[in-house]
Amino acid sequence: MRAVMSSSGSVFVTDQDEPSGDGELITVSSAGICGSDLHLISSGLSGVILGHEFGGFTSDGQLVAVRPTGECGSCAQCTSGFPHTCHQAAASLHGTSINGGLAEFVRVESSRLVPVPGGTDPAAVGLVEPLAVVVHGINRVRLASGMSALVVGSGSIGLLTAAVLADRGINVDIVCRHPHQFDAAQKLGVNAVSKPGTNYDVSFDAVCTQESLDTCFNATRPRGDVIEFGMVWGSIQLKNQMMLKEISLVPSIFYSHNHEQNDFVDAVDMLVRHPELITTLVTHRFLLEESVQAFAVANDRQAGAIKVHIFTQM
Ligand SMILES: [Zn+2]
Ligand SMILES: [Zn+2]
Repeated sequence: MRAVMSSSGSVFVTDQDEPSGDGELITVSSAGICGSDLHLISSGLSGVILGHEFGGFTSDGQLVAVRPTGECGSCAQCTSGFPHTCHQAAASLHGTSINGGLAEFVRVESSRLVPVPGGTDPAAVGLVEPLAVVVHGINRVRLASGMSALVVGSGSIGLLTAAVLADRGINVDIVCRHPHQFDAAQKLGVNAVSKPGTNYDVSFDAVCTQESLDTCFNATRPRGDVIEFGMVWGSIQLKNQMMLKEISLVPSIFYSHNHEQNDFVDAVDMLVRHPELITTLVTHRFLLEESVQAFAVANDRQAGAIKVHIFTQM
């Protein structure tokens, strides 16, 4: 089968044996390229099929999204209902630690499969994972209808965050820089601003740099919350403003899937109710054999890509 891997900072399409062994065989329908993929590839990721944002069909034809994280099932984190903070969550992550979804087929533990209702565009399933990231981050803070929120960053995570907040009745502003980002925000019905206002109850940092974090602290009211939504690849300084305003800094990683909360199920529900998310955010579509080009577009800031998706067929 065709699959996408990387070595020494470059991506290539390769022929691999069809996966055998444990787990359900999934025929992949769509997979997204993520900023963390680009970072890990440039840091030398190799020896694994890429892709942690994907879904497809089971052997009996059920459309599924895939939760790419694993769990040991027996540690304190797993048994207390927080398997996403188990040491195995990242250590058995599809696309970085075990083979991912940028391939025709992938084997996935059945506990990681999340059914997607019939009639949903199979092209949409690659968007469920980033949407689950967003749902999890939003659930990390207490929000009530009518509160105000700021989203800093208008890539896919930022735009999805604004859309979910609006869906929950939150008054949300999203900071946009480029015309295609303003355009996407408008299509999603969320308020795009070029500069943030002040005194938001909650701010979401979907960029995770010094500048974006400082913007969040500046714009959040005293005793508000700032959610840090992604990996912080460099070092970041915390300033006294956080202390003086007693702002809570809330990190968010992966997605919950315990008895009370399954962020993937909520993400599927959101995607089914809002088909404009897929048409607005997936700005570029490529076939699997065009993956080198797809990654080049995802890497090119001038290309105007919000989300690049790769399909086994179109
Ligand atoms: Zn991702
Ligand atoms: Zn565990």
